[in-house]
Amino acid sequence: MSNIVNSNAMDTAERAAEVLTRGGLIGLPTETVYGLAGSAASERALSKIFEVKGRPVGHPLIVHLASLDQLDHYAQSVPQTAVSLVEACWPGPLTLLLQRSRHVSDLITGNRHTVAIRIPANECARSIIAMHGHAVAAPSANRFGHVSPTTAEHVLADLGENVDIIVDDGPCTIGVESTIIDFTTPVPQLLRPGGFALEDLEELMGIHVAMPDGESRASGMLESHYAPKGKLQLVDSLPDAISIIRAHSEARLIDHWGNLPLYAASLYAQMRQADKDGVQLMVAINPAPTGLGRAIRDRLKKAAHP
Ligand code: AMP
Ligand code: MG
Repeated sequence: MSNIVNSNAMDTAERAAEVLTRGGLIGLPTETVYGLAGSAASERALSKIFEVKGRPVGHPLIVHLASLDQLDHYAQSVPQTAVSLVEACWPGPLTLLLQRSRHVSDLITGNRHTVAIRIPANECARSIIAMHGHAVAAPSANRFGHVSPTTAEHVLADLGENVDIIVDDGPCTIGVESTIIDFTTPVPQLLRPGGFALEDLEELMGIHVAMPDGESRASGMLESHYAPKGKLQLVDSLPDAISIIRAHSEARLIDHWGNLPLYAASLYAQMRQADKDGVQLMVAINPAPTGLGRAIRDRLKKAAHP
């Protein structure tokens, strides 16, 4: 029997909120990727997230809120530029790194002074979080290092019965993880390109966001991550892709490279399907590093890293 429940069923949000309240884990649909969500108020649930994912403790988790009025409970000294930005961008695929409040578990922050927070655009996710009454911590619902899930079936394939229920709200509309901006540095820094275009954020703020310095602060900054089983080769043009496919008849081209939103939304599903089909060599065309192309390039690079 599968633990997938349909988001449209009358009692789904209630059932999911109940699971959260008793310290269980749910597969949470969001517009970026499916999350493995546990209550931010339950140490047991937070520990289980690391166990189930095989994620090293110390890799911090993103806190997901239902509404802006919860922000002050989890973060403190939020800069005015950050407040204005989230008023314009939330709910949406943007995560802010802020100073943590004392209410945030060390398991969430990995013992840091900072906490990563966002409000997801997916309405079903927000109603579950609102009904639970606390924030949830939700990393992507995949085994650590693997390709992120963009459907409920992907979550089931990676985590199976270790998740109490998986709420199926169809394929994720954006398909790559959120953009992470660090607001604890003097000039905000881009920790991870993602579903929210950097250019749009910069225009809203009227300043340039800096590239990250210092040690890696986000697991999204590891060199290898989001990786399929088959080898992925990256090229910069269609003719280059064609010559590889001519030389290796069994190679598969990752499709939709001409349409960035569709490329992002289908990327992980295509890698997972190729693995399922036993494809040994995938070929993907790098998009230009602007807009959503920046996040797609980043994920392709990490997926291609040996
Ligand atoms: P995922 O949950 O797989 O989308 O990954 C969450 C990302 O947020 C990872 O890259 C984390 O390292 C990053 N993150 C979450 N909290 C923090 C924090 N306090 N400091 C730095 N990075 C964080
Ligand atoms: Mg992840």
